[in-house]
Amino acid sequence: MAIRNIRTVGEPVLRKVCKPVKVMTPRLQTLIDDMLDTMYEANGVGLAAPQVGVLKRIVVIDVGGEEPDPIVLINPQILETSGEQTGDEGCLSLAGKCGQVTRPNHVKVRFQDRDMEWYELEGEELLARAICHECDHLEGKLYVDLVEGELHDAAVEEEPETSGDPRRGERS
Ligand code: ZN
Repeated sequence: MAIRNIRTVGEPVLRKVCKPVKVMTPRLQTLIDDMLDTMYEANGVGLAAPQVGVLKRIVVIDVGGEEPDPIVLINPQILETSGEQTGDEGCLSLAGKCGQVTRPNHVKVRFQDRDMEWYELEGEELLARAICHECDHLEGKLYVDLVEGELHDAAVEEEPETSGDPRRGERS
């Protein structure tokens, strides 16, 4: 397992449409392990394969909370969305910045796991936001395309929390 170099906004690889995974290989299993390591190292809640320069339809997500394990989505397809949430969103490919994005509050996604078995998963709030954000990456879309208003600096975690609005941008 290893930390991979995260590609940043402006690099063409982030604007390409990713190819489906047809067969699981040891090489792709290593990629997934590396994506998880890279996401955790960067304190992100999600990472898509193009963010480490690989144009495959693979996403990892860990929003903490009730899900005990990271979620690995291979060939994800969003089947249904409902509701709406508006809040700050960030991206590991644009460190230190965030901006307001409106997303569905609930999504249902179909995907294959690491054994290429098909599953469905439903997510709300931050998980729904992360699924939408990461699936967009597979289409070469970035949250900056959707931002309402200006990007702003993400709160630095080391700073003591002030009263008022403690929200900080979740990066994925
Ligand atoms: Zn992102």
